[in-house]
Amino acid sequence: MSTRPSPIEIVVVGAGMAAQRFVTRLLASASARVRVTVIGDENRPPYDRTRLRELFLGAAAGDLQLPCPAFEDDRVTVILDDRVLRIDRRARSVRTRSRRVYSYDVLVLATGAYSARVAVEGAALPGCFSYRTIADVKDLRRFVRARSDGLGRSLRGVVVGGGPLGLEAAGALQTMGIAATVVQYAERLMDAQLDVTAGSIVKRHLQARGIAVRTATRVTRIDPDESGAVTAIEFQDGSFQRVDVVVFTVGMRARDELARNADIEVDPRGGVVIDEGCRTSDAAVLAIGDVACFEGRRAGRTGAAYDMAEVAAERLLGGTRSFTGSDESAAATVAGVEVASFGDALTRTPDAVDVLYADPVAGVYRKLVLAEDAHTLLGGILVGDASAYGALRTLVGARLEDDPASYVLPVRG
Ligand SMILES: Cc1cc2nc3c(=O)[nH]c(=O)nc-3n(C[C@H](O)[C@H](O)[C@H](O)COP(=O)(O)OP(=O)(O)OC[C@H]3O[C@@H](n4cnc5c(N)ncnc54)[C@H](O)[C@@H]3O)c2cc1C
Repeated sequence: MSTRPSPIEIVVVGAGMAAQRFVTRLLASASARVRVTVIGDENRPPYDRTRLRELFLGAAAGDLQLPCPAFEDDRVTVILDDRVLRIDRRARSVRTRSRRVYSYDVLVLATGAYSARVAVEGAALPGCFSYRTIADVKDLRRFVRARSDGLGRSLRGVVVGGGPLGLEAAGALQTMGIAATVVQYAERLMDAQLDVTAGSIVKRHLQARGIAVRTATRVTRIDPDESGAVTAIEFQDGSFQRVDVVVFTVGMRARDELARNADIEVDPRGGVVIDEGCRTSDAAVLAIGDVACFEGRRAGRTGAAYDMAEVAAERLLGGTRSFTGSDESAAATVAGVEVASFGDALTRTPDAVDVLYADPVAGVYRKLVLAEDAHTLLGGILVGDASAYGALRTLVGARLEDDPASYVLPVRG
């Protein structure tokens, strides 16, 4: 890089979590001869999206802000509240909503993802919300205040989507005094992370907290009242439920439209295709974070977004670090329940065996998935008490020294 006569012009589209990590890593090198322009369409600097629920517990939006000392560096220009609308690959420039044009040597797409909604009539009515941004939460809270004042009663809410975010959203509705129901299309809650027993134990936890759960249920329509706001939700079995607020948590869709429109390769299932150096089909364009698709998979997790950000920055600094894929392990407290799943949690490996302990009454479930030799740990699920998650996760791929049952059975004492 030092042989170049002038600094490399880098334009980063998106000012979210991946962009923050990318710029921080790049600018950590005092000698990096770069000029970086970050363009974000939210009206605030990068913040920690994974802490969004704290806004329901009294945190202010500013509390979620990520430290961005690198944004103060002379080599960095940050433009917020503007959106890149178009990439001109031949001219190597981008154009924004405010008609500004920025030239680049290297373009970094860090545009994240949209929170998806089910495609049914009424999904865009007042009272229907996504759960992705600080603005989403502010809009939801404003609506809830106005609607409960207008109706003179507490509200009823439905969360469509029973994954981790859905359960988090249901807990958030409850903190606002809203009677919440989680509606899940799959047969069980958190079907990507949990098996049947774990899913039913989490369901019992939620019900014990006063959150209703409907699994194997498909939403077919959302109905407005005379004011135009949501008043009922209809299901495939012909039943319906009165509702004042609907929150969609049915997955994410990569914000890959800029790449699509510029003929940069996009995976058929969404996401900008990248190689192990985070390069797209255009060598001058990198993609990192939720917008990127590596080996047919989109990660949708901070760990992967940060890894990609560091790989992209280090490559630009002349390094050779590679992105090797994301670890889908996760541990969280969802609606008051500790839940963790790691490795081959759903026992997909041929001839794998499960060692498990379940106490549905106490709400505890521990499962280890072992290879055919009954000793090599492949993955596991913990519900009710996830304290062993950190230790077990690091043992994935290793042979357990002790009797595997000793890891799941309750300690008698
Ligand atoms: C409620 C919630 C909880 C979560 N919890 C967890 C968790 O516990 N663990 C975990 O690992 N992950 C979690 N995630 C996922 C995690 O937040 C994402 O993986 C992470 O934010 C990805 O970072 P990113 O920079 O790719 O996307 P983002 O952080 O979404 O940043 C992308 C930014 O680009 C902007 N943008 C998009 N298009 C343009 C454009 N054309 N011009 C300008 N700006 C644009 C967007 O507005 C956004 O600000 C959670 C997500 C949510 C929503």
